Amino acid sequence: MSGRDDKSPDLERRRLLQAGGLALGAAPVQLAVAAGAGQAPAAEAPAIASLLRRATLPRHRGARVVVVGGGWSGLTLAKYLRRFNPDFDVVLIDRQSAFVSFPISNSWLADQVDLDFLSHSFFDAANNHGYHFLQATVLAFDRESRRVFTEKGYVDYDYLVLAPGIEYDYGRIGVVDTEAQNLLFHRYPGGFVSSSELLTIKRKIHRFDGGVFLLNVPNGDFRCPAAPYERACMVAALFKRRRVRAKILLLDMNADIKIKKAGFARAFRELYGDYIEYLSSEEISGVDIDNRRVETEFDEYAFDDAIIYPPVRASRLLEENGIANPVSPQKTADTDPFRYHLLGDERVYVTGDSRSQPFSKGGHTAHSEGQYVAEIIAAHALGREVRWRSPQTMCFSAVDIEPLRAMSIITYYKFNQENGEFAFDRTHMIERWDAQGGQASLAWAEGMYRDMFYR
Ligand SMILES: Cc1cc2nc3c(=O)[nH]c(=O)nc-3n(C[C@H](O)[C@H](O)[C@H](O)COP(=O)(O)OP(=O)(O)OC[C@H]3O[C@@H](n4cnc5c(N)ncnc54)[C@H](O)[C@@H]3O)c2cc1C
Repeated sequence: MSGRDDKSPDLERRRLLQAGGLALGAAPVQLAVAAGAGQAPAAEAPAIASLLRRATLPRHRGARVVVVGGGWSGLTLAKYLRRFNPDFDVVLIDRQSAFVSFPISNSWLADQVDLDFLSHSFFDAANNHGYHFLQATVLAFDRESRRVFTEKGYVDYDYLVLAPGIEYDYGRIGVVDTEAQNLLFHRYPGGFVSSSELLTIKRKIHRFDGGVFLLNVPNGDFRCPAAPYERACMVAALFKRRRVRAKILLLDMNADIKIKKAGFARAFRELYGDYIEYLSSEEISGVDIDNRRVETEFDEYAFDDAIIYPPVRASRLLEENGIANPVSPQKTADTDPFRYHLLGDERVYVTGDSRSQPFSKGGHTAHSEGQYVAEIIAAHALGREVRWRSPQTMCFSAVDIEPLRAMSIITYYKFNQENGEFAFDRTHMIERWDAQGGQASLAWAEGMYRDMFYR
């Protein structure tokens, strides 16, 4: 009997543990060991039992593609997998009950759009595009049996796409203790990973009544390189409108403004000279959470409130399931840079901000890449090949409100055979911010939401 067909409970339990023992944490591991010895504590046994039963999904005939993560990458893949191969049975899994967009969230912080504009239903996306949505957390996956484990049961796959996004890497700003990391995350969320962070940030900036409000720009390959500068502008615009006597201390861990430099520098100078103090090369090396102080190599900065955005890394789901390269800076998986599958396994793909390629971590990048990877998987199922095409990055940055004024960049990527690296290609940057750019940013986002959810 093949590994895939053997469904004995003991083997299932072993696979689950091998696949994601770390992801499940210590308690279930102990439980499973006890269960294996026939001594499962009665109160906990149902929890394990639910992991080992099949998740409730409609029966399927075609090959099943499981997509983990319903962000910009996963939503696009789920839609286009069905578009390129209507026989695919596609299951999109996300732990959240609804989608809230990060792009345009900075404009929402400054009241330029409603939350309704950013929020969309996974049910609408699944119904309109003919796939299944499972609201669950993926705990582990096993590549031998081709099985994904969630708290609502397991799902078997023919192809697996991992698009779980990023996590913060607090160790890189000197916060290594996990309790301190947790406290920092809850008290001064960075607003780049979950929608609850955004709600907390909006409440903070609308209630801030004066003093030093600290923001930072992380280093490394962080999510949406323009967004922390854009956020500083939106917070400043709001303080200006509210006439709050505040200083926004923007500590950049990079040597200079990373992108749209002329545009942001002009906005800091001309619009927010009384509000924003921008400091570059400020490598954060520690945070004193209780005393509200940030340490850098040479200085210490006190703050009254803050948004602390640490450097990022790929989702721990990759690492906990043994596919992350431990020496890669962001714990990414070793994948084919043109075809996105794990080296040696054309059944498992990694896309979106968890990818190993250095493309800009952006929603638009994830969307254009998602269409391409969907085509690759559809072609693979038919024994065909697709020519490589570059993802496209498009990013609008708002700098002012009433009217909303924004600037933008569009770029592709090319691969340099000589040094083996990707670089920007055919870049079109508009650093002059204006109201047309502001309206274009909203039109762009609306078009993307329509594509992922409604059309
Ligand atoms: C403030 C801000 C502004 C931005 N502005 C722009 C912009 O103007 N233009 C642009 O192109 N991009 C922008 N971005 C970047 C963009 O949001 C990201 O690049 C994009 O969301 C990446 O898509 P993704 O699918 O890889 O990850 P995500 O969108 O983060 O999606 C990952 C999904 O996986 C789910 N998930 C993770 N782990 C599990 C698990 N174990 N089980 C189940 N589900 C799981 C999460 O719940 C999440 O829904 C901005 C980001 C921020 C924060």
